[in-house]
Amino acid sequence: YAKRAGGDTHRYFSVQMTEAALRRLNLENHLRRAIERDELELHYQPQLDTHTRTFSGLEALLRWKNNELGSVSPAEFIPLAEETGLIISIGEWVLRRACEQVQVWLDRGIPLTRIAVNVSAVQFLHRGFPGLVRKILNETGLRPEILELELTESALISDVEYVMDVLTELKQIGVQLAIDDFGTGYSSLSRLKNFPIDRLKVDQMFVRNLELNPNDGAITSAIIAMAGNMNMKVTAEGVESKFQMDFLRNIFCDEVQGYLLCKPLPAKQLEEFLNSQS
Ligand code: C2E
Ligand code: MG
Ligand code: MG
Ligand code: MG
Repeated sequence: YAKRAGGDTHRYFSVQMTEAALRRLNLENHLRRAIERDELELHYQPQLDTHTRTFSGLEALLRWKNNELGSVSPAEFIPLAEETGLIISIGEWVLRRACEQVQVWLDRGIPLTRIAVNVSAVQFLHRGFPGLVRKILNETGLRPEILELELTESALISDVEYVMDVLTELKQIGVQLAIDDFGTGYSSLSRLKNFPIDRLKVDQMFVRNLELNPNDGAITSAIIAMAGNMNMKVTAEGVESKFQMDFLRNIFCDEVQGYLLCKPLPAKQLEEFLNSQS
């Protein structure tokens, strides 16, 4: 009897495995064609400057909608794109699209000071990444200081000399560098201290519990104090409540971003939102 139960468990387990593997394969096949089929789109989420109380920066966030699969979350398809190498072409598409769009807005007189673009570790470590950034800025005419690259700690933990070379080259081009999801990765401060980073983005995980857990407030304050002393700015992401907003303003967080202010919007709606604010 025990043996039969064991057998059933095993069969159930392998059916689940097969389903996951099939979903993955199916996603991969569709993702491979997503660019040529025009299924990718960027949404933009504004960032509020707490000092001037104006929206200045935007973060570009990738969306994928496929006829068969519907909308697939970046949390699902970005890791897949990284594993399959598709992130190289997708990441290039994102960078070009974001720079093009923001240059169009600037040409129309919309006062934006920054577009933040997420860069995967695979993309960052791919040879020729700084060259690609240079090329896209040239093609689109966007001034380098408008572009901010959001890197993850995982991009910065590999070969320290190579990482430093890439960061230095990016700073020579003139773009801004941010560390995304700060405080949740595995990089050490002793390593990060030498990198030419302009901004830290405090992870949502800390912001979420500001009401409930005093330690999260302590961590966020400490990040802001450290960043200030190191000449870096801080953006808090995932701000959903008035309490969180007031808390962050009181501890002099430079910028806030979250559903409380505005969710990520398609280009046209974002433009309407910005117009309605001014
Ligand atoms: P991220 O870069 O940390 O982006 C912040 C995520 O939080 C976004 O999720 C955004 O929609 C969401 N968010 C914004 N405000 C709030 C809020 O108030 N509450 C909550 N709960 N969430 C909020 P999204 O768009 O699903 O993206 C998830 C992750 O996927 C991103 O995290 C980023 O790591 C990755 N990603 C998205 N677009 C790209 C891209 O173009 N390239 C790369 N490499 N990664 C991307
Ligand atoms: Mg980001
Ligand atoms: Mg983040
Ligand atoms: Mg994140």
